[in-house]
Amino acid sequence: MSKVLRKLNRSVIKDPVKARDFNRLNIFFACEQCSYFQPQDGKCNLGFPNEVHKMDAQLKQYYMSGSFAFCRYSELD
Ligand code: SF4
Repeated sequence: MSKVLRKLNRSVIKDPVKARDFNRLNIFFACEQCSYFQPQDGKCNLGFPNEVHKMDAQLKQYYMSGSFAFCRYSELD
C-alpha cells in the first residue's frame, strides 16, 4: 500500500457491508461506477483525492475488513 493511500485510509470513514448484501445487491462503491470519474486519467472530476475510493482499493479493503470507504459525493447517471 502506498504511503499516500495509507495516510488517506486513516481518516476515511468505513461502513461495514454484509457479505450476503455484497453478493446479492448491485452495490455502488467505487469511483469507476461514479458519474464524476474520469476514465482517461483515473481522477475525480470534483478534484477529490480518490485513491481509497477506486475499485481496486475498495475491493482490497472489503476483502480485508468487510467494509467500504463510500464516497459521500458519488453520483450515478
Ligand atoms: S465523487 Fe467520489 S466516487 Fe465519484 S469520482 Fe469523485 S471521489 Fe470517486
